[in-house]
Amino acid sequence: MGIYKEEHDIFRGTVKKFIEKEVLPNIDEWEEKGEVPRSLWKKCGEMGFLGMCLDEKYGGLEVGFEYTAVLVEEFGKVNACMPVVGTGDILAPYIRDFGTEELKMRYLSRFTKGDLIPAIAMTEPNTGSDLKGVRTSAISDGDDYIINGQKTFITNGNTCDMMIVVCKTNPDSNSLSNAFSLIIVDDGTTGFIKGRKLNKMGMHMQDTAEIFFEDCHVPKANLIGEEGKGFGYLMSELQKERLVMVMWGQAMAEAMLQMGIDYAKSREAFGQPIATFQHNAFKIADMATQVQLGRSLINELIIDFIAGKDIVVKVSMAKLYVGEMANNIAAKSFQLHGGYGFMEEYPIARYYRDIRAMSVYAGSSEIMRLVIARSLGIEPT
Ligand SMILES: Cc1cc2nc3c(=O)[nH]c(=O)nc-3n(C[C@H](O)[C@H](O)[C@H](O)COP(=O)(O)OP(=O)(O)OC[C@H]3O[C@@H](n4cnc5c(N)ncnc54)[C@H](O)[C@@H]3O)c2cc1C
Repeated sequence: MGIYKEEHDIFRGTVKKFIEKEVLPNIDEWEEKGEVPRSLWKKCGEMGFLGMCLDEKYGGLEVGFEYTAVLVEEFGKVNACMPVVGTGDILAPYIRDFGTEELKMRYLSRFTKGDLIPAIAMTEPNTGSDLKGVRTSAISDGDDYIINGQKTFITNGNTCDMMIVVCKTNPDSNSLSNAFSLIIVDDGTTGFIKGRKLNKMGMHMQDTAEIFFEDCHVPKANLIGEEGKGFGYLMSELQKERLVMVMWGQAMAEAMLQMGIDYAKSREAFGQPIATFQHNAFKIADMATQVQLGRSLINELIIDFIAGKDIVVKVSMAKLYVGEMANNIAAKSFQLHGGYGFMEEYPIARYYRDIRAMSVYAGSSEIMRLVIARSLGIEPT
C-alpha cells in the first residue's frame, strides 16, 4: 500500500519550492550565526507548515500525518531547520492532547502563525537518558509553582518564547507515575535564565542552550494536564518525536548516499571513475541496500502510525537502525569524496558532523536496545 496521494505530491512540490527560495540560499549564514532567524518561523507559519496536525481553530490545517512526513522528508534531505519544522509534531501535541483550552488558545494559535518559538526541557547536567534523575523542582506556593534547577542541551533554548519544563512536583517521590509534571515557562519570567548557547561539533544553525531556574514563579494555570502525570505524557508523545527524528535521519541518509554516488561517478582516478572500482561499486551497493531497508521500515511505520497502531517497539527499532545506518552512510560517503569530503564546499562535510548526534538524542541507540530487549521479555542489567 502506498502512503502518498496526488494532494501530497502537490504539497511536496510546494515545500521543495519554499526550500529552494527561503532555505538553501541562507544555510551558510545561519550556520555561521548559530540560529535561524525569526522571520523563517513567520514564513513557515504563513505557509501553514507549523502544527499542520492541529485543529483549524488553533491555526492548524487538520491534515493527516502524511503531510508531516512530506515536510520532514524534504527539509531532512537538505538538512536544515529541523527545530522549526519538527516542533509542530514534537512539542505542540503536549498542549493539544493534555493542555487546557486556555493553554491551547494562548500558545498553539501563536505557534501556528510562527509568532511563538517553543522548546522542551527534559535533560539536566546530571541526567539525560534516565529521566527519573530529574532534579529541577516545582514547589507549590498558593496559585504558583516555584521552580528551581538547571537544564542543558535545550534545542531553541536561547531563542524560545516558551518552554515546556519537566519538573519534579513531588519531591518525596521518585515514582514515574506521580513525581513529575510538565509546566510551561514563558520567556521573560523572573528567575527563568537563559545561559550560554552551547558550542557544538555540528548542527550549527540549531540553537542549543543551558537554562537555569532560580526561584522562578509560574502560575499553576501553566501546568500541562494533571500534576504528577508528566512522565506518562512524555512516554506517549515521545513515540511521535522518535518517528519524526527517524524520518529526518532517513532523509539525510538518502541524500548522503546520492552525494556519494554522484561524486564517485564524476571523479576519476587511475583513468576511470572511482565508482567503477569494484571495491567502491560494492560499497555503494551495500550503502544503497542499507538505505532501502531503512526506507521500507519507515514507510511501514508511517502506515502503522496513521492507522493508530502501537508503534513503541517498531519505532525504537527504526530509531536504532536509522541512527546507526545513517552514521555508517555518512562515513562511507565521506570516504568516497576523498579530501574534498573534508572541505566545506562539499555538503557531505556538514551532513557528516550533523548526523553524529542522531544516535544520541530522542533516545540513544542503547536506550532503544533496552526498550526492544524489554519487549522480548529480557531485562538487561
Ligand atoms: C543536538 C542535541 C539536541 C538536544 N535537544 C534536547 C532538547 O531539546 N531537550 C532536551 O531535554 N534534551 C535535548 N538533548 C539531550 C538528549 O536528549 C540527551 O543527550 C540524551 O537523552 C542522552 O542523555 P545524556 O547526554 O545525558 O547521556 P547519558 O544518559 O549520560 O548517557 C551516556 C551514554 O550512556 C549510555 N547509557 C545510558 N543509560 C544506559 C543503559 N541503561 N544501558 C546502556 N547504555 C546506557 C547512553 O546511551 C550514552 O551512550 C539534545 C541533545 C543533543 C546532542
